[in-house]
Amino acid sequence: MARSLNSDQILVTGGAGFLGSHLCDRLMGLGFDVICLDNFFTGNRRNVAHLIDDKRFELIRHDVTVPVYLEVGEIYNLACAASPVHYQFDPVQTTKSSVHGAINMLGLAKRTQAKILQASTSEVYGDPEVKPQHEGYWGRVNPIGPRACYDEGKRCAETLFFDYYRQYQLRIKVARIFNTYGPRMHPDDGRVVSNFIRQALRNEPITIYGDGSQTRSFCYVSDLIDGLVALMSSPDQFTGPVNLGNPGEFSIRELADKIIELTGSRSPIKQLALPADDPTQRQPDISMAKSGLGWEPKVSLDEGLRLTIDYFENLMSHQTGTYKL
Ligand code: NAD
Ligand code: UDP
Repeated sequence: MARSLNSDQILVTGGAGFLGSHLCDRLMGLGFDVICLDNFFTGNRRNVAHLIDDKRFELIRHDVTVPVYLEVGEIYNLACAASPVHYQFDPVQTTKSSVHGAINMLGLAKRTQAKILQASTSEVYGDPEVKPQHEGYWGRVNPIGPRACYDEGKRCAETLFFDYYRQYQLRIKVARIFNTYGPRMHPDDGRVVSNFIRQALRNEPITIYGDGSQTRSFCYVSDLIDGLVALMSSPDQFTGPVNLGNPGEFSIRELADKIIELTGSRSPIKQLALPADDPTQRQPDISMAKSGLGWEPKVSLDEGLRLTIDYFENLMSHQTGTYKL
């Protein structure tokens, strides 16, 4: 029997990526019908291959910079490369993915009366002067640097979300996501956790950019997905922006040492030049998420790294050579 158009369906853009695929898993597990939309720039069918045979799941190859006509009740807008290596590969496309993508998805939400959540980022704070970073801080972003396509694209997407909220009374949710890691990160994705684990497992040099004193706060993927789902189901007046991340702060050097210890690696440290505009610190103030959503992360960095290392070990023992994105 043909399935009717279903406004209870949930759309996940960027659904074949790292976070998107975990979100699809979670929503399917909760019993929802899910449409996963992706242009496969950094995502991969393999990430959602286990869902394909489920009749409640649909995979669409589509670019969010182009309008799409679907009937949906909720939209999680995650489509955008997140690794600096990949978002700087085609910076114009990165800005378009965030800005045109937001316009198209907000337009879809307006037509279907859907609730819509934006995967924003701690990068809206740029290289911050305050610590920890709270949602009231406006940030310090270089608007013309190599990271601007991502940072300013995400900032503009937030602007669009709040203008649609004020102008059209759309039900919006904005999550500012801090560095998140876990299984299904691509080994060649270029981000620090995946780079270090891959290098450590091969006993290759661990590439620290700069002196490694810059800090990041690392959130395990299951915690982050808990936060996104809690935000989507929060009362309409709770729009965010709300920080989602793990407040534990580590220097990149500490992260390298931890990964060497957990993998038992013989990797030496290799220092490389610090990329332009690399933020010196990141630590979320999560008091708004705690009080508004009853959310806080549960998985420690050691525990999350062990799970991620297990995943990479398994992946790398089944594959040789390079890992094509
Ligand atoms: P990812 O690169 O694994 O996933 C992004 C997905 O979006 C990929 O599947 C990619 O193919 C798809 N995509 C990119 N451009 C697209 C377009 N124009 N049209 C359709 N699909 C497109 O990255 P991720 O870590 O899963 O990040 C997901 C979202 O969360 C991104 O919006 C990112 O900015 C945000 N975020 C992630 C982190 C993190 O640490 N993982 C931190 C802050 C924000
Ligand atoms: N980094 C590093 N070595 C690597 C990859 C990244 O030292 O092989 C550093 C990078 O310079 C930054 C931090 O790790 O200071 C986090 O980088 P990532 O690309 O994961 O995300 P960002 O938070 O910078 O967007």
